Amino acid sequence: MANLKTILSGKHLLALSLALNASLVLRMGYDRGNKEGSCLKKTEHEVDSDTDKRVNSRSARLAVPSYSSRTNHPQDRDRVINLDYGDPSMYERYWREMGEKTTITIPGWQSMSYFSGWSDVCWFLEAEFATEVVRLHNAVGNAVTHGTHIVVGTGSSHLIMAALYALSPPHPPHQPIPVVSATPYYSSYPAMVDLQRSGLYKWGGSAESFEEEGPYIELVTSPNNPDGSERRSLINRSHGLQIHDLAYYWPQYTPISSPAHHHVTLFSLSKCTGHAGTRIGWALVRDREVAMKMSKFIEVSTIGVSKDSQLRAARILRAVSESCQGQRGESFFGFSHNVMDRRWKQLRAVVARSGMFSLPRFSPSFCNFSRRVVEPRPAFAWLKCEGDVEDCETFLREHKIKGRSGRHFGASPKYVRLSMLDSDENFTLFLDRLCSIQS
Ligand code: PMP
Repeated sequence: MANLKTILSGKHLLALSLALNASLVLRMGYDRGNKEGSCLKKTEHEVDSDTDKRVNSRSARLAVPSYSSRTNHPQDRDRVINLDYGDPSMYERYWREMGEKTTITIPGWQSMSYFSGWSDVCWFLEAEFATEVVRLHNAVGNAVTHGTHIVVGTGSSHLIMAALYALSPPHPPHQPIPVVSATPYYSSYPAMVDLQRSGLYKWGGSAESFEEEGPYIELVTSPNNPDGSERRSLINRSHGLQIHDLAYYWPQYTPISSPAHHHVTLFSLSKCTGHAGTRIGWALVRDREVAMKMSKFIEVSTIGVSKDSQLRAARILRAVSESCQGQRGESFFGFSHNVMDRRWKQLRAVVARSGMFSLPRFSPSFCNFSRRVVEPRPAFAWLKCEGDVEDCETFLREHKIKGRSGRHFGASPKYVRLSMLDSDENFTLFLDRLCSIQS
C-alpha cells in the first residue's frame, strides 16, 4: 500500500477520480439515451416476426443486420446523422464480400487514347461497357436495348445536360424551351437546367402548373426521387418531349413491371450498383440524331468519358448479371432487396410507434424479375411531420438527423427526404434517434 501511495501522488489520485467521474456521467447519459433502445427492441421484434423467412436463412455473412448489431459508442450520441445525400454506402458490404471478383488491373499503357473507335454514334463508348449494359438490361428486363443507341456519360447528371442540349430547338428565333417536372421533383433539376442560363432551355417549374403553349421538355423520374412514386409523363401534349430518368428502376427499389422503351432513358451506376464514385451513367436513345447530339455535348464538355471508369463499370455490371444467374455467390439484387426490405419495415414500425410522422404507402405489384408480388422500397424516405411541426427539416435537425427539406423539391416544408442507402451503422443510429422522438 505504501508503494501504491508513492506511485499515485495526490495529483494522480485527483486526476484518476475526475476521469472516473466523467466516464460515469457519460455512461449514465448514454444509458439514458439508450432507453430508446427498448422502443427499437420492440419494433425489432415486430419486424422479425413479419420478415420473410428467406431473409433469415441467407448466408450469415451477408445477412441483414438487426438492431442488436448497432454500435454502442458514447461518442455517437452527439454525432449528426447525415441522410441529406443519397450516398449509396449501403452496398459496400456486398462488394467487400465479393472481394477480388470485381477487381481490375489497368496497365499503364492501356486506355490511353481519347478514342474507343467502334461506335459511330458515341465514339468514346467502350465496347465492353456497352456489352455489359445490354446484358444486364436483358437479365433484369427493365429496358429494351434492341434498336437503341447507348451514350455513356460521367454519371447520369452529365446525360441530363446532354439530353437537354440534344432535345432543345437549335436555332433562333426560338425562346429557351421550358423544362418541367411534376412535384415533388428531384431537387437538382432546377439547378442543372438554369446553372448556365442557357439560351436553349430554362427551368419552367412544376409540370402541374405548366400552361404555356408550344414546345417543352418534361423530366419524368420513375420511381421518383424524392417520394418513390411510379410516374408517367404528366402533361402529354403534342409539342412535348420527355427525358425518362430511371435511375431507380432496379429490382431492389421497385417491382419491374415491363421493359422501358422511351425516346431517351437514363440510368446511373450510382443507384444501380452503389458505385457513385465511378461516375458512370448511360442513356438508351431511340433516335440516332438525338444520340449523336448527346455525344456531341459530351465531346465538347469533357472530350469523352473516362475509359478506366467504363472498364470498371463493365466488370461490376458483369458481376451483377452473373450473380442474377446464380453463378457468383449471393445475388446482388437478392442482397439489396433484403436490406431495403428490412430497412423499410424497421422504419415503418418506428414511424407507426412515434405518432408524429407519416410515410407514403405503396401498392405491391408483380415483379417480372423476382417472379413474385413485391412492394416498392424506395431509395429515399419522404417523411412528413404530422401535427403542428411546419418545418420538418429543422425539427429533425434538432434531434441530430439531417435531411433535405421538401422545399427543395417544390413541395411543403412539412416533408423531409432522408436517404435509405446509408451505412448499416448510420441507418441504425437514425432509427434510434427517430425512436426517441415521441408525440
Ligand atoms: N437522377 C436522379 C433521379 C437521381 O436521384 C440522381 C442521383 N441522386 C441522378 C440522376 C444523378 O446520378 P449520377 O450519380 O449518375 O450523376
